[in-house]
Amino acid sequence: MNGPFLRVTTVLPLEKRRRSPVAFLDRDGVVNLGRPGYVNSPDEVVLLPGAAACIGDLKRAGYLVCIVTNQSPISRKLWGQDQLCRIHRFLQDCLLSQDDEAHIDAFITCPHRFEDRCSCRKPSPNMLFLGHQVLRSGHHFPVDELYNAGFQDRTVDWWGGKVDPFHRLDAMVGDRRSDMGAGWGYGARLFRVDRDVGLVQACERVLNENDLGDRFQP
Ligand SMILES: [Mg+2]
Ligand SMILES: [Zn+2]
Repeated sequence: MNGPFLRVTTVLPLEKRRRSPVAFLDRDGVVNLGRPGYVNSPDEVVLLPGAAACIGDLKRAGYLVCIVTNQSPISRKLWGQDQLCRIHRFLQDCLLSQDDEAHIDAFITCPHRFEDRCSCRKPSPNMLFLGHQVLRSGHHFPVDELYNAGFQDRTVDWWGGKVDPFHRLDAMVGDRRSDMGAGWGYGARLFRVDRDVGLVQACERVLNENDLGDRFQP
């Protein structure tokens, strides 16, 4: 199976995007409530309290917001790309209904299971590198539709030092160790949150330029 799936809806001009830091957000347990059997349809999307206002605050502070999410039910054939698109469209509508600046610039989704041996599933940092490329290059990426982007794997030296990010404020917020691993491999500032609390737990820290994020040992 190819992937990851890309949904790019940024409306900011390239010039601005090139200068902006990116806040990479895991989805379930950060923006919306996770569920034991996955979030399978729009009516299972429940925003975490304060998440929309946090995304709005990040946008007002000049951040690009990119969701990077593992969604193995797609590879498990529980549902497909159309459903993914419906879920993300609904999630975006919910966010905007609570804060009209809570616009997600890009959604990047790995549809695979662990055993698919893909190169996008977190803790691989490849979805973050793709997000950087999508948001900061002049490449044409389709707007408001799912896109099947094959891309090259990057080698991460898990035993070496943390690399420098493309922007010193680039950040990764997640509720799992695999999120922290992906953010570490990219070089982002790392912020781990509790899955029942989500983004509100880390937002002020992300916005604090002097906060270098959580320590992480891969
Ligand atoms: Mg999560
Ligand atoms: Zn994948």
